[in-house]
Amino acid sequence: MKEIRNILILTGAGISAESGIPVFRSETGLWEQHRVEDVATYEGFMRNRPLVHEFYNRMRRNLFNVRPNPAHFALARLANEWKKGSVCLITQNIDNLHEAAGSGNVIHMHGELMRISCESCGAVVDWDKDSSVDTRCPKCGEAAMRPHIVWFGEIPYHMEHIDELLRDCDLFMSIGTSGVVYPAANFARMTHALGAYNIEFNLEKSATAGSFDRGIYGKAGTTLPEFVDSLLKTENLDFLDR
Ligand code: NAD
Repeated sequence: MKEIRNILILTGAGISAESGIPVFRSETGLWEQHRVEDVATYEGFMRNRPLVHEFYNRMRRNLFNVRPNPAHFALARLANEWKKGSVCLITQNIDNLHEAAGSGNVIHMHGELMRISCESCGAVVDWDKDSSVDTRCPKCGEAAMRPHIVWFGEIPYHMEHIDELLRDCDLFMSIGTSGVVYPAANFARMTHALGAYNIEFNLEKSATAGSFDRGIYGKAGTTLPEFVDSLLKTENLDFLDR
């Protein structure tokens, strides 16, 4: 197996499921009992701003009741202890459990519950309280704040940086993501085409399983700590074939 230096990790809602945050139910199109069009599109926000603020307020409040699980801690440990190259973490999640587990420099491509942004001046501000249509921007004073979340139809954040990371990794690990939300669903195809070794961690094969060299199936809170232990011990992937 090729030598591994740079590791790129993509996480999705599945990594936070064991912490008690529900995954997105793509078959029913419902997210926490709401239609995705109502709470995760700009059109939905225009139709009913108070409802959308309240939807994300509830999720933000819930972050104070949840804790990282062993999968989040395993990734923080990998980043701290891997000495052969870089470890970069991209998440589609809007929760803060990677940070709570000790991961630094997490790339939140779909935004963060703990931030809100101003539609008037573009400021992005840290925010741990409720927000509403009356919340004023701390920078420009306008009451034009929105959740700092990438909704369907909007362009994810940090795509230029992500593109560089996808080109520069030797091992790509995709964890707890269904592979149906784009552009993240394309990442595995790209790293595979560029010669990286791809591994997915999921309960079952994802929609993009064909782009992975290996699938490790089971709860990430169990499979990931075991995998990280072996990887740190051997510094290669030969243990997968034993
Ligand atoms: P998804 O909900 O579409 O898919 C979750 C995947 O995780 C599934 O393939 C499922 O089989 C797998 N899974 C569930 N429990 C698991 C476990 N214990 N171990 C391993 N895998 C497990 O998630 P997605 O692909 O991230 O796309 C959903 C979108 O919704 C994302 O854009 C994300 O921003 C958003 N979302 C975020 C959160 C969060 O921040 N925690 C929660 C729900 C949805």
